[in-house]
Amino acid sequence: MTPIRSQYGSSADLDIPKVLARIHEEVRPLIGQGKVASYIPRLACVPANRFGMAVATLDGALYTEGDTDELFSIQSISKVFTLNLALEALGSDLWKRVGREPSGNAFNSLVQLERERGIPRNPFINAGAHVIADVVLSHTSNARQKLLEFVRDRADNQAIIMDEEVAISERDAGFRNFALANFLRSFNNIENKVDDVLDFYFHQCALQMSCADLAHAFLHLANGGICQRSGESVIKPDRVKRINALMMTCGTYDAAGEFAFRVGLPAKSGVGGGIVAVVPSVMTVVVWSPGLDEKGNSLAGAAALGRFTELTGLSIF
Ligand code: GLN
Repeated sequence: MTPIRSQYGSSADLDIPKVLARIHEEVRPLIGQGKVASYIPRLACVPANRFGMAVATLDGALYTEGDTDELFSIQSISKVFTLNLALEALGSDLWKRVGREPSGNAFNSLVQLERERGIPRNPFINAGAHVIADVVLSHTSNARQKLLEFVRDRADNQAIIMDEEVAISERDAGFRNFALANFLRSFNNIENKVDDVLDFYFHQCALQMSCADLAHAFLHLANGGICQRSGESVIKPDRVKRINALMMTCGTYDAAGEFAFRVGLPAKSGVGGGIVAVVPSVMTVVVWSPGLDEKGNSLAGAAALGRFTELTGLSIF
């Protein structure tokens, strides 16, 4: 039995391994349903019938269930890491170049960008992530290395890599991302060469991590910006508030409202089938299952997170 103290309720005695095992059983009929992200050809061959969950708590425990050792492509989850770096580089000036509102459109939609004159709605839709990638490129001599170091340190795993085959595969099929980034450039909201921005973007999306890696890598966002292992400050507390707020409102794209309703936690998804959720002051919860719903979020993963907050009462609401 693990005593977990939540700031949102009384202390709860939760048997997390038992909760995770129960959720795995309950969502089993959903595993393998949905579609893997075949628009990135290299991801088309990922087996859809995988399911893993990991919970990392602020008292240093890690709980895992299912296929938690498998590495998967974190895709848009990487947008949270680059937002960390861009905020550290530019501070609040960042918000002159990217907004903070949910888009209500698909993550790779082009339509809003023209109407809103090249200012993407938020940092988690693709256009917003291109601007963030551009900021990181402008402020670092080796952006890929800087990101890798940040992620490896956060996850406490120096073996994390960017999968070159996934990055190339996405570049070769990345017509929408090229359209978006060129469009941003035409509004002067990209400073670097479009090819360089997208090369960095495709590589950040190609980061390969396990559920446990991600659970550790997000823990500072549950801990006021402090690294749970070393006690060092990773980002300022007011930025943690902002990043978590953006995950809550924009982290699962045009499903963010439904996600808030079902799960009630700040979360970020990726088309590799991963979803990371943050329970402030308590823990991170990661789920991975590659079959996606029509909005591009893991189908079994969203159901599992919904059950997690129902069974534990750990939600921010
Ligand atoms: N690399 C993907 C893309 O640009 C990321 C999208 C996602 O994970 N939602 O389409």
